[in-house]
Amino acid sequence: METFVQTHEAAIRLTAFFGIFAAMALWEWRAPRRALTVSKTLRWASNLGLVVLNTVLLRLLFPVAAVGLAATAATQGWGLLNQYPLSPWLAIPLAVMALDLAIWAQHVFFHAVPALWRLHRVHHADLDYDLTTGARFHPIEILLSMLIKFAVILALGPPVVAVILFEVILNGMAMFNHGNVGLPSWLDRRLRWVFVTPDMHRVHHSIAEDETNSNFGFNLSWWDRLFGTYRDQPRAGHLGMTIGIDDHRDPREVAALPGMLALPFRGAITGYAINRRRWEPPGQGEPGGQGGSGGLGQSAGSVGQNAPAGRRP
Ligand SMILES: [Zn+2]
Repeated sequence: METFVQTHEAAIRLTAFFGIFAAMALWEWRAPRRALTVSKTLRWASNLGLVVLNTVLLRLLFPVAAVGLAATAATQGWGLLNQYPLSPWLAIPLAVMALDLAIWAQHVFFHAVPALWRLHRVHHADLDYDLTTGARFHPIEILLSMLIKFAVILALGPPVVAVILFEVILNGMAMFNHGNVGLPSWLDRRLRWVFVTPDMHRVHHSIAEDETNSNFGFNLSWWDRLFGTYRDQPRAGHLGMTIGIDDHRDPREVAALPGMLALPFRGAITGYAINRRRWEPPGQGEPGGQGGSGGLGQSAGSVGQNAPAGRRP
């Protein structure tokens, strides 16, 4: 399998990308979960414009890419799995899971550090939620993500094939779980024991801060459950919830490419990051908020309706 994946790398990447893109676009068109609020043409042009820009930038700045670095690490013996080799059947899934944990941790980090949240909010400022949201990242966030991935590869020494598989899976899963689609609730519940589903990740794109700061996973749902950031459903339900960021609702700023590129450099540096939650004197906050939410939802005034925990209708 390893040789097959390595020799057909480009074909596998392209087939997976275009195949999953087409399948999700068809699914969204036939059975959309929510009505879109902004022109789909504008959003798709901007979101996919970012994908093209990011792809070109990565090629120019990092011609070696993660796979090339993993190959160098293997020949040089760098990293844990190159120092202590395991059978490929163990090393490949272990490395894919470790890379998934690393990207989960990176995602939490981008929410927690105010300057990084500025970059990551380009992803969150999308006013609608569909498969193109999954590919919408500011170029600086993409470059930083690549450097972090390089560091993880140097430390872990994953098999080359694991890096290819991880990138293909992450790409496909990002389109799937950002999909404007819904699974039957019984299937969603069962899938969620292992994987991130569209309904699970949509909670993360809520305008309510306590909901945004949950469900950071992209592939495996375990990390959020294990580290206490899991949230079952949005308070207002999937049809009632608002997508995006409270302070940035102007389509010219968040749905058109120039505004999206400038977004990290606008507004105050503080606010709306995990470590800048609104402080409340002891005894005044609502005790026992779900998923460690505390009282931070209050600053998103338009959302604090305190509806009962939203279950799917
Ligand atoms: Zn996020």
